[in-house]
Amino acid sequence: MICSYCYTSHIKPKHDVGHWWNNPLDSVYVCSDKCYTELEKLVKDRTWMDYKPPAIFGKKKKEEKKVSKKKSIGAVTDKQFTGDLGKFMK
Ligand SMILES: [Zn+2]
Repeated sequence: MICSYCYTSHIKPKHDVGHWWNNPLDSVYVCSDKCYTELEKLVKDRTWMDYKPPAIFGKKKKEEKKVSKKKSIGAVTDKQFTGDLGKFMK
């Protein structure tokens, strides 16, 4: 089990957050209330795809820095996409 926010491995799952991506239960977890809150923020402002935890991505290469300066178009979860479509159809 890996925390979907801080990417700590071998966690004791505290919250199941798969529903944010319309994933089945028992597939996406965070390890703490803090990770839950922080990840929820990322999902809401649609930057979760750009989030790279320092634990894994701490050592950045020059090229990667360049790329990260590009303006993000925003990563949308399936659920948000469907929600937007719903608004559009009305
Ligand atoms: Zn965590």
